[in-house]
Amino acid sequence: MADRDGVIWYDGKLVPWRDATTHVLTHTLHYGMGVFEGVRAYKAEQGTAIFRLQEHTDRLFRSAHILGMKLPFDKDTISEAQRTVVRENGLESGYLRPMAFLGSEAMGISAKNLSVHVIVAAWPWGTYLGQEALERGIRVKTSSFSRHHVNVTMCKAKANGNYMNSILAHKEAETDGYDEALLLDVDGFVAEGSGENVFIIRNGKLITPDLTSALEGITRDTLIQLAAEIGLPLVEKRITRDEVYSADEAFFTGTAAEVTPIRELDNRAIGEGTRGPITTRLQAMYFDCVHGRAAAHTGWLTPVK
Ligand code: PMP
Repeated sequence: MADRDGVIWYDGKLVPWRDATTHVLTHTLHYGMGVFEGVRAYKAEQGTAIFRLQEHTDRLFRSAHILGMKLPFDKDTISEAQRTVVRENGLESGYLRPMAFLGSEAMGISAKNLSVHVIVAAWPWGTYLGQEALERGIRVKTSSFSRHHVNVTMCKAKANGNYMNSILAHKEAETDGYDEALLLDVDGFVAEGSGENVFIIRNGKLITPDLTSALEGITRDTLIQLAAEIGLPLVEKRITRDEVYSADEAFFTGTAAEVTPIRELDNRAIGEGTRGPITTRLQAMYFDCVHGRAAAHTGWLTPVK
């Protein structure tokens, strides 16, 4: 990643990719106190555009607020930086990574009087779990790692340190031959994937865990709006893993994962063990939105030029 051409927005300046470095005593590297976003730009009918840019920028600032970090830039500047890096790197589509982190002035838990830095990078990134995953669905394993307790880390913050939990879970699932992990909350109810929210469809209803210990996903919100448009009733409630086993369909949502069908959980086929018909429809609607083909939702796209 570090060795490539291009530019990264770093504290207000565009820096050559290879020079966008930071000191080894950077506080966030040691303790994980930082916040970030994952955003996508798509080659839309109207030209390259960032999907739900405002919502991602808002969540970055919300995450920082939750952690008590004051970002030294305003929202407009960070949104503009995201448009700039897509444009200046000549990307038709890609993934964006805004991140805020603490500087290297001092070590220690106190984290007092440290500078706050912001970077925004963008690079080409195709499907997260592969094209086949989007078409056939993925095999998922319930993780032995619990999702965060709401009073251990802050689940509503997309915080760097939270992702150690995600990596442990994903690595375990991958090592065991699965594509992704499903994490349960500390009470044993379904929370989310390592980097995705989860939905099931049962008896014509769309069901998703409430947000107690899951990230407030922007794709989740998109899917909820799209489901309403096709008259699919939504239920937000606690879900058990055996409810997922006996669902008609299931899928993950996330900026990176987009809408990825789940064809199996813990070696039990979900529904027909393929991408289900409602998932297929919602996924197509989602791709229409991100590519600017849904007239009602072009407002979700911010052109980079
Ligand atoms: N949960 C977690 C833990 C995530 O990392 C992500 C990806 N940001 C999501 C859910 C989905 O969020 P979004 O749809 O906003 O990308």
